[in-house]
Amino acid sequence: MTDPERRCTSCGLSLTSRGTTQFICPQCGNGAIGRCSRCRDQSVPYHCPQCEFIGP
Ligand SMILES: [Zn+2]
Ligand SMILES: [Zn+2]
Repeated sequence: MTDPERRCTSCGLSLTSRGTTQFICPQCGNGAIGRCSRCRDQSVPYHCPQCEFIGP
């Protein structure tokens, strides 16, 4: 596991276009969370794939 698939955590869209963001889960520090521009714009909640943390 060296290159995890980069997808929006909320809608599953591939993070290939501009305006997307990725960050590490603020709770567990392990889960990679991705957000596409649309979900950022609409403040769609995300959840960490590692610890089920849900946040804006
Ligand atoms: Zn999305
Ligand atoms: Zn987490």
